[in-house]
Amino acid sequence: MKTAIISRCLIGERCRWDGRIMPPGELTGADGFRLIAVCPEMDGGLPCPRPASQIVSGDGFSVIDQKSSVIDSFGGNVTDKYLVGAETALKIALKNGAKSAFLKDKSPSCGVRRIYRDGKPVPGIGVTAALLSRHNIKLECIE
Ligand code: SF4
Repeated sequence: MKTAIISRCLIGERCRWDGRIMPPGELTGADGFRLIAVCPEMDGGLPCPRPASQIVSGDGFSVIDQKSSVIDSFGGNVTDKYLVGAETALKIALKNGAKSAFLKDKSPSCGVRRIYRDGKPVPGIGVTAALLSRHNIKLECIE
């Protein structure tokens, strides 16, 4: 059976920044995969709930390349936590032979097509999604 990573909030677990549990939605394309759940923000050491955070400029690739930072709504620099969470997700993917990742869009970690900046979605990829894609893991965007 093929293995894939999945954002933990997509399977009804309480790990979102605001502490809200999302109702289970449709996981298009995930049938037939053994799914391994990760939450890069909590795996990086952040609590739940936690202040909202955003990538200050560029996107997740910029953060990985040390050209941008992740800042929380109180001005705290949480870049290191985001990088640890991304590296943890990558290690789990590689260890388990996962070649795909089903990720929650619009997150500064898991966003595939969009991230939030200044209260609105903008085109861009999150930190974990960027790191996984750099290692040839196929990203599936879940709204
Ligand atoms: S989108 Fe990713 S980082 Fe955010 S709560 Fe879901 S799994 Fe965690």
